[in-house]
Amino acid sequence: MKIMKRPNILLTGTPGVGKTTLGKELAQRTGLTYINVGDLAKEGQLFDGYDEEYQCPILDEDRVVDELEDQMTEGGMIVDYHGCDFFPERWFHIVFVLRTDNTNLYNRLESRGYTGKKLQDNVQCEIFQTIYEEAVEAYKEEIVHQLPSNDPDDLERNLEQIAQWIEQWMKDNN
Ligand code: ADP
Ligand code: MG
Repeated sequence: MKIMKRPNILLTGTPGVGKTTLGKELAQRTGLTYINVGDLAKEGQLFDGYDEEYQCPILDEDRVVDELEDQMTEGGMIVDYHGCDFFPERWFHIVFVLRTDNTNLYNRLESRGYTGKKLQDNVQCEIFQTIYEEAVEAYKEEIVHQLPSNDPDDLERNLEQIAQWIEQWMKDNN
């Protein structure tokens, strides 16, 4: 039996932009496998130290990469993380950076319980398009795409666009 090749997709962007919402729904619609890097790290305790300023553990990037290598080689993975420069470039066939308007993001993060510096820094990260710049430095610019993620219409549009892209990729690569 011939196994169909499937693409690996990276969903990245500032916390709160909607990566997990989009990633899980996309996996359901397309049959690709959703991977939440934050959850994976928690489950496997893939941390290396503690960030006192942000009161959160620091990701052990090398161990995360080792942990994911086999699945990524297999293909058909949707990876969700708020950073992207430590993944091997060869893993991903396409990178989506989700973008949310400032006020909208502020409200989402506030209802998630973020306050003070953590809230401010994350909104500023979006204003400065930090993750987009990280993505275009780490990957070929032509595979990096920004997607607006402000309302349910955006979500639906993004789902349809990515699902279509996957279908086309599979036609072209099988
Ligand atoms: P991330 O995984 O990037 O941190 P989430 O998927 O957890 O973001 O979404 C953060 C919040 O924003 C959630 O409450 C979610 O329901 C909401 N949200 C995500 N995408 C959209 C969208 N396109 N329109 C409206 N709300 C959204
Ligand atoms: Mg998330």
